[in-house]
Amino acid sequence: MALFGRKSKSSSAKVAAPSSVTSTAPATRPPVATTSSPEREEHITQIGVTMLDIAKDHKAGLLSAKFYQDKLMDWSMKDHNFKVQLFRFVDAFPALTTPEMVHDHLVDYLTQPGVKAPPFMDLGLKAGGVAKGMMSKTISSQIKNMAGNFIAGTDASDALPMLSRLWKNGIAFSVDLLGEACVSNAEADMYQGKYLDLVENLVGEASTWKETERLEKDHLGVVPRVNVSIKVTSLCANFNPIAPESSIKDFMSRATPVLEAAKRNGVLINFDMEQHELKDLTLDTFMHACDHVDFEAGLAMQAYLKSGVDDAKRIAEWAKRTGKVVTIRLVKGAYWDYETIHAEQEGWPCPVWNEKWQTDLCFEQMVEVFLDACPREPGEGGIKLALGSHNVRSIAAALAGLEKRNLPKNAIELQMLHGMADQLKHAAEEMGLRVREYVPVGEMIPGMAYLVRRLLENTSNESWLKAGFLDNADTATLLADPASKHRGQLPVDLCEIAHQRHALSPGIPEVRNGRPFYTEPLRDFAEKDQREAFGRAIESATVPTVANDHTPEQGLDMVQRAYNAFPTWRDFDPIKRAELLTRVADKMKDRRDELSGIVCKEARKTWREADADVCEAIDFCAYYARYAVPLFKRMRLGKFIGELDELWYQPKGVAVVISPWNFPLAISCGMTVAALVTGNTVVLKPAEQTPGIAKVMYDMIMEALRELDAPNDVLHFCPAPGETTGAALVRDPKISLIAFTGSKAVGLDIIAAAGVTHEDQPMVKRVICEMGGKNAVIVDASADLDEAVLGVRYSAFGFQGQKCSACSRCIVVDPQGPDGPNMKLFLSRLSESTKTLVLGASTDPNADVSPVIDAEAADNIRRFIQIARDEGLTELVGEKDFDTPEDMPELIAPHIFTGVNESHTIYQQEIFGPVLAVVHAKDFDEALRLANGHAYKLTGGVFTRKPAHIERAKNEFRVGNLYINRGCTGALVGRQPFGGFGMSGVGSKAGGPDYLMQFVDPRASCENTMRRGFAPEL
Ligand SMILES: Cc1cc2nc3c(=O)[nH]c(=O)nc-3n(C[C@H](O)[C@H](O)[C@H](O)COP(=O)(O)OP(=O)(O)OC[C@H]3O[C@@H](n4cnc5c(N)ncnc54)[C@H](O)[C@@H]3O)c2cc1C
Repeated sequence: MALFGRKSKSSSAKVAAPSSVTSTAPATRPPVATTSSPEREEHITQIGVTMLDIAKDHKAGLLSAKFYQDKLMDWSMKDHNFKVQLFRFVDAFPALTTPEMVHDHLVDYLTQPGVKAPPFMDLGLKAGGVAKGMMSKTISSQIKNMAGNFIAGTDASDALPMLSRLWKNGIAFSVDLLGEACVSNAEADMYQGKYLDLVENLVGEASTWKETERLEKDHLGVVPRVNVSIKVTSLCANFNPIAPESSIKDFMSRATPVLEAAKRNGVLINFDMEQHELKDLTLDTFMHACDHVDFEAGLAMQAYLKSGVDDAKRIAEWAKRTGKVVTIRLVKGAYWDYETIHAEQEGWPCPVWNEKWQTDLCFEQMVEVFLDACPREPGEGGIKLALGSHNVRSIAAALAGLEKRNLPKNAIELQMLHGMADQLKHAAEEMGLRVREYVPVGEMIPGMAYLVRRLLENTSNESWLKAGFLDNADTATLLADPASKHRGQLPVDLCEIAHQRHALSPGIPEVRNGRPFYTEPLRDFAEKDQREAFGRAIESATVPTVANDHTPEQGLDMVQRAYNAFPTWRDFDPIKRAELLTRVADKMKDRRDELSGIVCKEARKTWREADADVCEAIDFCAYYARYAVPLFKRMRLGKFIGELDELWYQPKGVAVVISPWNFPLAISCGMTVAALVTGNTVVLKPAEQTPGIAKVMYDMIMEALRELDAPNDVLHFCPAPGETTGAALVRDPKISLIAFTGSKAVGLDIIAAAGVTHEDQPMVKRVICEMGGKNAVIVDASADLDEAVLGVRYSAFGFQGQKCSACSRCIVVDPQGPDGPNMKLFLSRLSESTKTLVLGASTDPNADVSPVIDAEAADNIRRFIQIARDEGLTELVGEKDFDTPEDMPELIAPHIFTGVNESHTIYQQEIFGPVLAVVHAKDFDEALRLANGHAYKLTGGVFTRKPAHIERAKNEFRVGNLYINRGCTGALVGRQPFGGFGMSGVGSKAGGPDYLMQFVDPRASCENTMRRGFAPEL
């Protein structure tokens, strides 16, 4: 029976009572922990049925039904693959500036493997010539219509006639400004201007509208006519939980004038709620704003969060305590998919409920908290509740709660989205409730993210509206107690099963009981406890003083001792060698934040970078432990009877590890433990700039070696100058293996030195060599600029551009030339966004860019900057754009140069600093040619929304690590094995399954097991 079905003939008289909902449940269903009583359920059903009946009979406003009748949506709901590709196309659509591009992309998306286009599109997809143009036109107008369903106009004045019509029809409004991600102070200033415009100017027009008591009065007094929704992130480009105080300060600098204007004009300002990462910071910001400006305040809160009830209690308690009256718009939450995906990628517990009924139940529980906190009298502090839902069960449950508390109808408000559930709005209005529509205004490009969210929501199988409008669910189902949908077993959180689910390594029975490797999750700085503990650790961390004073003689003595120790370590139990690594990983985990503190202070890494360095070190240990053990077990080849063919590996000998300063823990640890776990003895020479953290690591490994009763002299620590002692180490004939990461010049020198063989040398030396990069990121014509700007900015300037994976060439595709619109828009957003980066000490959580490693590096980078100027390049961003702290001479501001071509020095040379060259390409072919036109082959990136270009990049962009639609740094062990070829290295992949093979020699045997014509197997 379809209550909203296009052919519904149902009658509410036949609606089953809630008790029957539970009684018809399968007998196997376990008891449900619900607080709902039969009386409450009856009450809710009664209200819900009333609402549904009125809604069903309402002839006007069939937008939602129209949505489902739309041919494209209809097909989307039948074919998941088509839906995914269509929505991806819709997302890319505003960036497609010509009919050819539209057609080209559409065909590309809808001809992806597994996608079946509907028959009505088939011809158009195959068309050429005029028909092709028609197809583009039709699809363009369909998307614009779709957007028009949900977005009321390009700006407030465009939407005004609609707002006034709404008011006449008995519906109030809250205007929402659609926006792209705010990536710069300039954009935040622009949003501030737009909000001010709304707050100052909507009131004039709205004041001419007819008085409507239902919309303007609640039980406490006047309800503002004009209601504006703001996003905190649009008023602050650095709204970052890692630095809450400065985020709030920056936000308030732009929000205060808006809030004061709102107060003057009697406008309610509602703070929308965005991703979970920002939730606590948004709550704190909201309370701070209310404490500082006495405006009519509203805040959206999300019931899909597991913290929903606690959050509700916190805000209710605050309002009661401070005597403030604020409106809470209770919603379920718009980013469920994102939160689920993001949490899994980070390895964090999922912040949202797994099952829809849990969200619905949490919504009802939060309603109870807020209704309990509703002020009874003017002057009393508390919460006024607004329901942001189109789910009649959820609404009815709140209305029942209201009646139970003898609160009047006008003590609650119903809010619904523009373009959705119009019948319900009218039903609510007829029931005498105050209804407000959330009305987004904005241009196409910023509107797309919102449109795609609405499309996903409306086509989701979990959507109540879809159940009501399309799937013809019966009333009992639509109004059922959420708790009754509990099926006993809840899905486990993905982070709990991550090891097995991803199987990033084999599970080795002797290593951690067969549990496969999984990447160590980074700290979640949105969590106050983690953030504060990290801050304390950074503050108290001390970098050990280590002199780089080991002479060549001392170094060679270490090689001799390592050489003597080799046979015992070679024959040491491989399982115990693996245990060495897991023990080291545990020790590092125990001291994680302290290690980050040392890295932060010694290598000048900002908080997140230091944390990532430590996690990577832990990962190398845990990963290589699992890959090492099988190497030393004999592997039988084939099953020949009478012939036993076997393959296994043995350690090589003494390894010299020469590690860099830019990943002072991760890389030195990775190379050292790879050599040790494969049975080689090691002399470690750390970078001169970062011997402190290397010493701490060395001590940890030594402690673990002692715990395992390992032989002496397996590992030696040799802090020393590279030119003398380092050079002597790699030339010693007793070494078998050199593991090096560093500059091309030193790397090539080592390779040459290793090629010189002494007469008494027992084996040819192997060199595992990771050198530099001159990495390019292509920004294609269809790129999502929100992502591209932030991805390029981070890849170029994260850790001051001192990663070998850093982006130093950005290639922007614009068919209209170097002054074309793509180029201009990207460059203006990138440059403004870069200027927003904060320069400061690495220990300061606010800092995005800190001093480079030392004075010599700073001089070198400055030399390149001067060359770029001398060669006549345009300095789009440079020192002039930043407040550079005076006491930090080695702090170099991010630089962006344009007008660059292949002949320019900064295009050719690796700089290892915050300097980015931007190059124009007329099309994707040229972009690929430029990107590939360098001897370095380390990382590369492509931002594009054209599937064919993604495929081409995978085939033709020849680099060791290719990143698509994300930044080109930050490889994770086991997930993105890291390393380049060409002049970037010898092609090995650290953190990959074959890395350890370079540390061993293979051996094979063939045994004839046949004696006198018989063999055991036969
Ligand atoms: C006026 C208004 C303002 C809004 N403002 C905001 C805002 O500031 N921030 C924001 O995030 N959202 C906001 N929303 C969007 C809102 O979150 C969604 O529209 C809403 O979740 C849809 O809920 P519903 O009760 O209408 O529909 P229902 O169909 O009952 O619920 C759908 C919701 O259930 C949740 N869900 C879906 N699948 C699962 C699952 N497997 N497990 C657990 N939960 C699941 C999701 O939250 C999904 O959106 C607003 C909505 C309105 C009406």
